[in-house]
Amino acid sequence: MADGIAVINCGSSSIKFSLYTINQDGDPAYFFGGQVDGIGVSPRFVAKASDGTIMEEKEWSKADEMVHDTLLEYIFEWIRSNLQDITVRGVGHRVVHGGSLYNAPVRVTPEIIEQLETFSPLAPLHQPNNLSPIRAIAERRPELPQVACFDTAFHRTQPGVAQAFALPRALTDEGIRRYGFHGLSYEYIARKFGDYASVEIASGRMVVAHLGSGASMCAIKNGKSIASSMGFSALDGLPMGTRTGTLDAGVILYLMQAKNMSPSEIENLLYKQSGLLGVSGISNDMRVLLESDDSKAKEAVELFVYRINRELGSLMAALGGLDAFIFTAGIGENSPEIRRQVCSAAAWAGIRLDDNANQSGSARISTAESPVSVWVIPTNEELMIATHTLELLET
Ligand code: ADP
Repeated sequence: MADGIAVINCGSSSIKFSLYTINQDGDPAYFFGGQVDGIGVSPRFVAKASDGTIMEEKEWSKADEMVHDTLLEYIFEWIRSNLQDITVRGVGHRVVHGGSLYNAPVRVTPEIIEQLETFSPLAPLHQPNNLSPIRAIAERRPELPQVACFDTAFHRTQPGVAQAFALPRALTDEGIRRYGFHGLSYEYIARKFGDYASVEIASGRMVVAHLGSGASMCAIKNGKSIASSMGFSALDGLPMGTRTGTLDAGVILYLMQAKNMSPSEIENLLYKQSGLLGVSGISNDMRVLLESDDSKAKEAVELFVYRINRELGSLMAALGGLDAFIFTAGIGENSPEIRRQVCSAAAWAGIRLDDNANQSGSARISTAESPVSVWVIPTNEELMIATHTLELLET
C-alpha cells in the first residue's frame, strides 16, 4: 500500500488531473496524469504514465452529452480503477481566485466552498469550473481532505500600492484591485530557482516571464511577489494566445457606446478573439506564427515581444533593478526564437544572451559576463499543488 495525492485543475475548456505518490524523502512523485480538452466542442481524454506512455485515449463525438460533470465523473472513475495499491489521502485543486482573503492554500470546508463561491463574479469564466470538482468530491467523499490552491495567493505579498487602482476608495474596498495570477507557477519557480542559481542570485531581484497560451510576468524579490503584469482579471498585461492584454479602458467604453456591443460580446472579443489570434488573423499558436511568412503573423510576434520588453521595464522599476530573468511555460520553455528576440530587445536591461546555450536547451542561457543572468526553468503548477496539499495534510 502507498499513499497518494490527486491533483485536479478544472478549467473552462479542459480538465487536467494527476496522481502523485509520496517518495522516500516525503515529497510528491508523479505517478500518472492526463487531461480532457476540447470540452464543449469534441472532448478528448488522454492519460499517461510517468514515463510518458499512453495509458488510455478516448474521444467523444457528442459534446453535449460529455459536459463538465459527466467528464469529471469519467475522470474520477478512471483514477479509481487505475490506483493499483495507492490510497488517495487528499485532493489538491487549482482555484483561480482567493480574493484578498487567502494568501496561502487552505483546507476546504463547506463554509470555505461557500466563501469561494462569492469570488465567482471576479473570475466568472474560471471560478465556477474550479469549484465544481471540489463540490462533487465533498458530496461523494466528505471525509477526504481537499485543499484549494489559489492563483492569486502568491501575489498577496505585493505592497498596497502595487495592488491598487486609482479608483474611488469604496470600489477598492469592494475588491476592485489588482490580484495577479499564475501564482502557483511563480511560486514553483521562486522555490526551484535555488536549485539552479547561487543563493545571492536566487534571493535577489528577478523577473519571471510565464509565457504560455495565458501569459504574464512577475517581479520577485527575495522569493516574494512584489508586482505583476496581470491585475484584476487574467486579461491584463501581455497580449496572449487569444486575450488582449492591457487595453485602454476607453476602448471598452467605445465598444459599448459607439458600436453597441453587449457585455458578453465584449467578453468574447477580449478573451477569445484577440491577442496573437486577433492580430495575426491566423492562429493563437506561437509555433504556427513563427513558421508563417505572412506579415501579419510577424506583426503579432513583434507586438508580443515589444510588450514583454515594456513590461520588463515596468517590473524592473518596481524592483529597483534586476539580477535574473527567467523564461517559463509553453513558449518560454520551448521557443529559442522568442527568447532570442526578447533578450535582444532587453539588451538595455543588461541582458546578454549566449546563443549556443539558448539553442541547446541549457538552464542558464546568458553569457558569463551578462550583468543579468537569464534562465529557462520548466514550471510545474500541478507539482506545486501536490506539494501544498501534502504540506497541509501533515499539519
Ligand atoms: P497553457 O498551460 O496556458 O495552456 P502552455 O504553457 O502549455 O499553455 O503553452 C502553450 C503554448 O506554448 C502554445 O499555444 C504554443 O503557442 C506554445 N508553444 C509550445 N511549444 C512551442 C514551441 N516549440 N515554439 C513556440 N511556441 C511553443
